[in-house]
Amino acid sequence: MISVRDDLVELEGYHSAQVTVDVRLNTNESPYPPPPAWREAFLAELATTPFHRYPDREALALRTAIGELHGVGPEQVLAGNGSNEVIQALCLAYGGPGRTVAVFEPTYALHSHIPRITGTAVAVGERRDDFSLDPAEVERAVTEAQPAITFLCSPNNPTGRIDGPEVVEAALAAAPGLVLVDEAYAQFASWSALAMMSGDQPLVVTRTFSKTWSMAACRLGYLVAPAPVVAAAERAMLPYHLDAPTQIAGRLALRFTADMEARVALLVSERERLAAALGALPVDTWPSGANFLLFRPHDIDGPTVWKGLVERSVLVRDCSSWPRLDGCLRVTVGTPAEDDVFLTALREVLS
Ligand SMILES: *Cc1c(COP(=O)(O)O)cnc(C)c1O
Repeated sequence: MISVRDDLVELEGYHSAQVTVDVRLNTNESPYPPPPAWREAFLAELATTPFHRYPDREALALRTAIGELHGVGPEQVLAGNGSNEVIQALCLAYGGPGRTVAVFEPTYALHSHIPRITGTAVAVGERRDDFSLDPAEVERAVTEAQPAITFLCSPNNPTGRIDGPEVVEAALAAAPGLVLVDEAYAQFASWSALAMMSGDQPLVVTRTFSKTWSMAACRLGYLVAPAPVVAAAERAMLPYHLDAPTQIAGRLALRFTADMEARVALLVSERERLAAALGALPVDTWPSGANFLLFRPHDIDGPTVWKGLVERSVLVRDCSSWPRLDGCLRVTVGTPAEDDVFLTALREVLS
C-alpha cells in the first residue's frame, strides 16, 4: 500500500476533546443560539429550496450581504465552509512548496497546521512573555522569512490579546506578501483591521459565523480582501463548495445584526465578571478582548485541573502542553449560570 506524504506523517491532527459534560466551555462557541425569528426564516427558505439543483456557485447573494456589512462589493468577499477553509484556499493559492508563511506564537494552531497541509513552510516569530506582539519582532521575522502570507490574529486565540494597528502596520510595511488578520473574535474587541482595508493594500481580514454569530453548526466563514486576492483564492476552491443551506443561513443571519451585537455585549460584560472572579483565585490571568480567558493555576498542573473540572462536568481547553503556554488552560465565556458552575468547580479543584 502506498504510504502517505512524508510531511503529513509528522503533522498532528486537530485535537479538542469531545466529552459529554453539562457545561462545555472548551471551543469558544456562543452559549446563546441565534434568535427564533432567524430559525423560522431559515426553515421557511429551506422548505422552498430546490434540493435537486446545485447551489449558487458564486454565493453571490451571501457575498453581497456580507460586503454590505463591511462597505465593500461582493468581489472583495470570499465565503467558505468556515474561515478555516478560506484560509486553506489562500494557502493553496499563495503558499505551497518553496513558499513560507509567518506566524507569531503562541497563537491559533491552525495558522501553522493549514499551511503545512498545503506544503507551505512555517516561520515562527515570538510574542512577548505577556503575549503582546512587538512591532519590531514582526518586522524582524517578516524581513528574515520573506513570507507569502503573514498571519496575525486579533484578538489572539488562545491568549485573548488584541494586536493594535501598529502591529498590522509593521507587518504591512515589512511583508513582501499578504498580511492576514484573523478576526474570528473582532466583534468582542474595540478595534478591527477592516478599517485599514484600502485599495491595493495586500491586507486580508478573515471572519467567521462560528462565534459571534452563534452559528458554529453551519460552517461558514469569509475573508475580505482586494478583488484580485479574492479571485486568486477562489481558483483554489472546489466548485459548489458552499451548500445552499449554509448560504441561506448566513444571508439570513445578517438580518439579525442587532441581536448579534446584543449577545456580544452580554458576553463582554460576563467576560469582565469572569475575569474579576478569576483574579481573586490563585491563578495568573491575562486581559482578553475575546469571549474566552486564559489562566494559569499557581500550584497545580494543567492536566490535573482539567481532569478535576471534567469530574465536575465542566469542560475547558487544556493548553498546558502547548509550547509557551506551560500550565495554562482556556475557558470560554458561557452563560452566567454556566460560569458560576465553572467557578465553583475551579475553587474546589484549586483548594
Ligand atoms: C474559532 C476560530 C476560527 C473559526 O474557524 P471556523 O472554521 O470559521 O469555525 C478561526 N480563527 C480563530 C483564531 C478561531 O479561534
